[in-house]
Amino acid sequence: MITRRAAPRSARPVGVHVPVAAGLASAGLGYAAGVGAEVMQVFVGNPRTWTPGEGDEREIRALRAHVEATGLPVFVHSPYLVNVGSPADAVRARSAALLAQSLLRAREIGARGVVVHTGSSVTADRDAGLRRAREALLPVLDAMPGGGPPVLLEPMAGQGHMLCAAAGEIGPYLAALDWHPQAQLCLDTCHLFAAGHDLTAAGGVDAVFSELGQAGIARLRLIHANDARDRCGSRRDRHENVGKGEIGLRPFWELLHHPATAGVAFVAETPGGREGHRRDIATLKRLRSRPAP
Ligand SMILES: [Zn+2]
Repeated sequence: MITRRAAPRSARPVGVHVPVAAGLASAGLGYAAGVGAEVMQVFVGNPRTWTPGEGDEREIRALRAHVEATGLPVFVHSPYLVNVGSPADAVRARSAALLAQSLLRAREIGARGVVVHTGSSVTADRDAGLRRAREALLPVLDAMPGGGPPVLLEPMAGQGHMLCAAAGEIGPYLAALDWHPQAQLCLDTCHLFAAGHDLTAAGGVDAVFSELGQAGIARLRLIHANDARDRCGSRRDRHENVGKGEIGLRPFWELLHHPATAGVAFVAETPGGREGHRRDIATLKRLRSRPAP
C-alpha cells in the first residue's frame, strides 16, 4: 500500500511553473525534480489558443499515480485567453468552457486547483464586467461540487480595465460570486506590486493581508512568487527572477514567514529556463529556512 507523505499544514512548498509540452509526467516530473521543486504548476493545453489539450492518457495516469504516491502538490494554470468579464458573448462562453475542461483535467491528475485570471471588463463599465464574470463563473463553480479542485482566482497587474488588481478589490469580486466555496485565491507578487502595493515598504506585506481581510486570507491557496522588472504601480506585468527585480529579497522572506501563508504553496513563473528556476527555488528555500534575510 502506498502511504501519502502529506506536508504539514504549516509547510510552504516552493516550486515553479514546469514546461510539460514533451509530457505531463515523463518530462514534467523530471524537470521538477531537477530544479528542486516541491510543488509544480502546469498548463494542460496550449496557453495561447482556445484549443483544449488533447491529453495523453498514459501521461495523465502516470502523473496521477505520482501525485498519489508522493503527495506532490500540482496546480493547473488555465490559458491566457480566458476572460470571464469580456463583453463578447463568444469569448465568455469559450472562457467558461475552457475553464470547465481545465477543472476536469485537474481532477484527473489530482491537482489542487486551477488558476484563472480574474479578467477584464474591456470597457470602463466595471460593474457590468463583474456581473458578466458572475454569470460566466457560477455555473462552472457549481459544476465542480465539493471534493473537486477549486478555481484559484488570480488578480492582475491593473492594466486596462481589470476587474480585480489591488487586494481591496478581491472581496467585492468574491462577493459577486456569492463567496462560492469553490472560489479560492492565487496572489501574484509581481501583479500586486504593479497594481500599487509597495511590498518593499515597511509594513507593505502586512498591508496586503489587512486589505484582503480574514475571509480572503482563508481562501489563499497559492502565491506566484515573481519579482518585477518594473517599478511599483507600473501596471506592467513583466516577471523577473526572485530577488533580481524591483521587489528584492526581503518581501519574499516576509511572505514565507507570514502567518497568512501557512500551508500556502509558492510557485515562481520566472525567466531563465531551467537554470533560472533552479536558482529561484534555491533562493526561496534559503529565505524560508532563515530567521531573517
Ligand atoms: Zn501569476
